Amino acid sequence: MKIFSLILASSLIGVATMTFAANAPAQTGKPFAIAIHGGSGTIEKGEFSPEREAEIRTTLEQAVRAGHEMLAAGGSSLDAVTRAVTMLEDSPHFNAGRGAVFNAEGKNELDASIMEGATLNAGAVAAVHNVRNPVLLARKVMTDSVHVMLMGEGAEEFARRQGIAFEDDAYFHTDYRWQQLQKAKASDQPDATFLSETPDQWFSTVGAVALDRDGNLAAATSTGGMTNKQWGRVGDSPIIGAGTYADNRSCAVSATGHGEYFIRATVARDVCARVQFTDASLAEATDQVVRQQLTAMGGDGGVIAVDPRGNVALTFNTSGMYRASIDADGNVYVAIFGDE
Ligand code: ASP
Repeated sequence: MKIFSLILASSLIGVATMTFAANAPAQTGKPFAIAIHGGSGTIEKGEFSPEREAEIRTTLEQAVRAGHEMLAAGGSSLDAVTRAVTMLEDSPHFNAGRGAVFNAEGKNELDASIMEGATLNAGAVAAVHNVRNPVLLARKVMTDSVHVMLMGEGAEEFARRQGIAFEDDAYFHTDYRWQQLQKAKASDQPDATFLSETPDQWFSTVGAVALDRDGNLAAATSTGGMTNKQWGRVGDSPIIGAGTYADNRSCAVSATGHGEYFIRATVARDVCARVQFTDASLAEATDQVVRQQLTAMGGDGGVIAVDPRGNVALTFNTSGMYRASIDADGNVYVAIFGDE
C-alpha cells in the first residue's frame, strides 16, 4: 500500500517537509528511488524571472530522470547519484561546478563528496580549482586512493594523474555569481563569508541520494561553498557525516545549507543514526534533525534522504529548496517553494 503524506508547517522562518513512503508493489519487483536537490534558501515567489525558474525546473527534472533511468535499467545507486550530480554541476544555475560562487580572491573553489551505503566507502575533495566535475574526482578518491579526503593542490595533482577533466576559469564564471561577490565586497561587512546568493540567502549546492534494485544506497554532494569565503573555508558538503552519508542499514542523505551548522550538528550521520538506532522513520528522523535540532541551533537549510524501502524525505527549514524525486512507485516530483 502506498502512503503519501504532505506535512506543511509554518513558523517565522517557514518549514516544510514532504515525504513519500512507499512499500514497493509486487509487480515492480525490488524498489528503487532517487531524490536530488539544488540547494535550499529563502526567496519569495516572483523573485526569479519566469525563464530562470523554468530552466531550473527543467534541469532538476532532467537530472532526476537521468538518474532514475539508470536505476530502472539495473544500474547502481552510485552511478545514478554520480550522473545526477554531474548534470547539476554542468548547469550554470547551481552553486557547483560551472556557475559556482566566487571566494574572496575571485576564484571558484570547489568541494564535493560521495559515499556508498553497501561498503561505507567514501571519497571527498575540498578547495579544488578548475576541476570540471568535482563529484567525479571525489569518486576517484574513493575508488582509486587509500584516502577518504584530498584537498587543494594535492587533490588537483591526483586529479591530473587520474585523467579528470579540467576547465579554464572562464568555464566556471557566471555574471550572476560575480555580481554576488561584488555585492558582498561592497557591503558593510566586506570580509564576511556570505551565503551563496546574498542578500537572498539561497544556498545552491547540489546533491543526490538513491536506492538501487540491489538494495544499495548512495549519496553525493557538490558545491562552490559560500560567496566571499576566505582563508580556505570549507563547509559541510565534502565532510562525510555532515553534508553526505550513506549506510545500507539506515539511509542515504545529502545536505544543503549553512555549512558551519551542518558540520557541528553532523546532520547527515545524525539522520542515519536515528533511523538505525531509534524507532524514527526516515521522515521523523529528518524532521528531528533539520526542523528541530538545526532550527534550534539557528542553522538554515535542508536534506534529501532515501531509505532501503524506497521512502524519500525532502526536508528543510527555509522557505524553499530546489528539489526533485522519483519514488518507488515512479511518481515524479519537482518543486522549489515550500508550499508545492
Ligand atoms: N552547505 C554549503 C556550504 O556551507 C552551502 C550550500 O548548501 O549552498 O558550503
